[in-house]
Amino acid sequence: MSGKSLLLKVILLGDGGVGKSSLMNRYVTDRFDSQSFHTIGVEFLNRDLEVDGRLVTLQIWDTAGQERFKSLRTPFYRGADCCLLTFAVDDVQSFQNLGCWKKEFMYYSDVKDPGRFPFVVLGNKVDKEEERQVGLEEARAWCEENSCCPYFETSAKDDTNVTAAFESAVREVLAAEDQIGHTLLSSTIDLHGNRKSTRSSCC
Ligand code: GDP
Repeated sequence: MSGKSLLLKVILLGDGGVGKSSLMNRYVTDRFDSQSFHTIGVEFLNRDLEVDGRLVTLQIWDTAGQERFKSLRTPFYRGADCCLLTFAVDDVQSFQNLGCWKKEFMYYSDVKDPGRFPFVVLGNKVDKEEERQVGLEEARAWCEENSCCPYFETSAKDDTNVTAAFESAVREVLAAEDQIGHTLLSSTIDLHGNRKSTRSSCC
């Protein structure tokens, strides 16, 4: 196992109310409650983990409610290594908006090669099975058509698939990096989302 931790920025994108903050909160603090980090000015949370023998610090950003005002701009997107497109399975409109969020991300981020950028899709609130408006197969089909795989059905409330989804995001990033022949060694991301990169290319 490499002793140096890799810093990866992942962003949660999607309509307001789908559970982005709750997913971040569940993953980092293992709690589901009404506490909002954003009210105390926190824009992102970090969590250290080990994936396939690699030490990783995951820096998780969510929109802090700003999606309602359409005021998300470049600093939020810049330097992202993976985008978690999130909807709620009991809210078909949030599912239909996924494509807009993807486009928004591609427009404002600094991604050079959209074909290789890792997206993971989360269908949250699966604990509300009786109120479900988006089926598993329908969601999977969208992900395949839009090159946004894998797809996870999650519940921040019940802690269903939350860890698996974030770990998968890390695997997707590592796989994408391997594909383009880069190693992420000791990059840092400042408070404005800018990566001070010491990425070194291995080829
Ligand atoms: P955000 O605007 O996307 O960040 O959404 P929030 O995390 O603020 O959640 C919006 C509402 O949905 C809150 O009332 C949460 O308690 C609730 N919520 C979030 N995740 C879940 C979930 O997995 N299941 C259920 N039943 N409610 C959830």
